[in-house]
This record gives sequence, structure tokens and C-alpha cells, in this order.
Amino acid sequence: MSPLLQIENLETVLHTGAAPVWAVDGLTLQILRGETFVLLGESGCGKSMTALSVMRLLPEAGEIVAGSIRIGEEDLLLLPEAAMRDVRGKRISMIFQEPMLSLNPVMTVADQIGEVLRRHFNLSGMAAQERVLEILNQVGIPDAARRMNEYPFQFSGGMKQRMMIAMALAGEPELLIADEPTTALDVTIQAQVLDLMRSLQQRDGMAILLITHDLAVAAEMAHRVAVMYAGEIVETATREDFFSGPAHPYSQKLFASLPGKALREQGLRLAAIGGNVPPLSSEFTGCRFADRCDHAWELCHEIAPRWNVVAGGHQVRCHLFNEDTRPSIQDPKLGS
Ligand code: SF4
Ligand code: MG
Repeated sequence: MSPLLQIENLETVLHTGAAPVWAVDGLTLQILRGETFVLLGESGCGKSMTALSVMRLLPEAGEIVAGSIRIGEEDLLLLPEAAMRDVRGKRISMIFQEPMLSLNPVMTVADQIGEVLRRHFNLSGMAAQERVLEILNQVGIPDAARRMNEYPFQFSGGMKQRMMIAMALAGEPELLIADEPTTALDVTIQAQVLDLMRSLQQRDGMAILLITHDLAVAAEMAHRVAVMYAGEIVETATREDFFSGPAHPYSQKLFASLPGKALREQGLRLAAIGGNVPPLSSEFTGCRFADRCDHAWELCHEIAPRWNVVAGGHQVRCHLFNEDTRPSIQDPKLGS
């Protein structure tokens, strides 16, 4: 599979307080065509800012100060805004936790999806109507022929989420970015929406960048996983490698904090992650996780870890995995 999205050394800054906050700090990742890539981490670690950077829809205080974001051959950061508008919805679509952020409360469903079809495919009239109906059926809106003429407030939470997916898919994007798409939904509806995303992906072959803080969602959906902490990616692996042996001490703590029975049975204990994410306004020396890490030693506070290979494509930004620096008594697989 060839790379579809390539982000290199992305730095996104928020100018909100006295000092700029480096929400995303040197992030590099690749998403392949047709795969589901899960970006996993606690809230405030920079996941959403990464997504909004790709869409170039940052809040006013946000600014991309370095790096490149390419889809295919196109560098999104070099495109004029008019060309970027064509990318949004057509090549890359985004859905959010809160559907009302992307639904227009005063337009009917048919008109909103119709607008996407007019803009990107120059479809209107009966042809557009038929296509709207087809899309609504695909995302499982019952009685779609009638409901397409209703307004978003007339739909339940799960149905609004389906509508937002319908809108996002209307442009037939190559990449769907889903930022905590099911966090606000109850578990049954959550499972239905995840199923829907998976089946639409299998049918259309689009790639999905799925942002979540939920390990169970990652386990269910991911082909590959990247764990983000304090503005940078600290671990990247296939789903199988990640869930059979999370390597970064932060990832291990994410597992340990999980109440889920199935994952606990894999031998991972229940525990809260002590301490806080460090402020992203200061310069870092050393590892960003050092203050919360049970394995930290002097070096961790002095030098930022580089990428080290755990095995194959499984990589981790931690000194424990560098044989030249690791103290001999430490064995990362054994824990503390
Ligand atoms: Fe912990 Fe050191 Fe690894 Fe950072 S580099 S995660 S502080 S062991
Ligand atoms: Mg977020």
C-alpha cells in the first residue's frame, strides 16, 4: 500500500496566553491508502490539533509554524485557501464528537448533502436528490426518503452522527478524519457507528485517521496505532504488536489504567496514571514523560529519547530500548 497522507515534522502552536503553546511538536506520520490509523492519547496531548492542522481549520489562536503535510503529491500547507476548500470534503473529510459542529441547524439534511454534491460533483436537481437518498440509505438512516427533508434537531444523537458521516462521505474522500466520533454516544450506538465506518471503508477503500482516547475503540478499529503524548508521537506499531505488548512506559500505563476485563486479563493491572502532562509552553530537556515514568533515570531528564526499534515496524521513543544507553538492570518487558 502506498502512503496517502504524509506529515513531516509538523509544529503547531497556540498563541493563547503569555507564552506560545507547542500543541504539536515535530510530529511525523504516514497513513497508507485504505488503512485505519489510530492516534491514541489522553485529552490535551495534541491529537485534535494534529487533525485540525491537516484540515487547515485551526482555531484563530492556532498557527502551523513548521513542517509539511502532503496528500499524494500535494503539499497542503502550500495551497491557497481556495484550493484547500476543494481538498476539504473531496479528498479529506472530517467528523467530530459533536455533530452539530458540522451540521447546519437551519438547513434540511437533503439540502446540506446536496450542497456537497453540487460543490464537488456539480450535481443538482433529481440526480442530486437520488444520490442523497442513496447516501442516507448507506449510512443506515431509516425512512430516508421522508427524513431527508427534516432538520438536524429532529434526529437523535446516533442519527445525527450518521448524518455527519453521510455528509463527510458525500464527497467520496480518500481520507476520513474522525475525532472522537463515538465518545458522546452510548455503547450500543457507538458499536453501530464504528461498524458503519468499517463497512464503508471496506466498500470504498478510504483511509481513516481515527482519533481516540479509548483503547477499546483502538483495539477494534486500528490497522496501525500511534500513541501521542505531550505534543509528540511516542510509540507506533501495528494493532497486533501494540496490543500484545505495548512498549512505551506511557502506553503501558494507559493499559494499566483501563478497567476493561479483557485487557486486564492479559496481565495488565488497574492503576491511575499519576501526575500531569507537562506544560507545552516550556522547552523540554529530556523525555517528556520522565516526571511520571517509573523507569526514569538520570539520562531521561537530560536527553530527549530518539526513536528506537522494538521489533520490525514497532518503534518507541524511549531510552530503555536503546541498548547503548539502557542501564543493564532495566528490562523494559518486565516493568518496574
Ligand atoms: Fe521513561 Fe526514560 Fe523511557 Fe522516558 S525515556 S519513557 S523517562 S524510561
Ligand atoms: Mg481532542
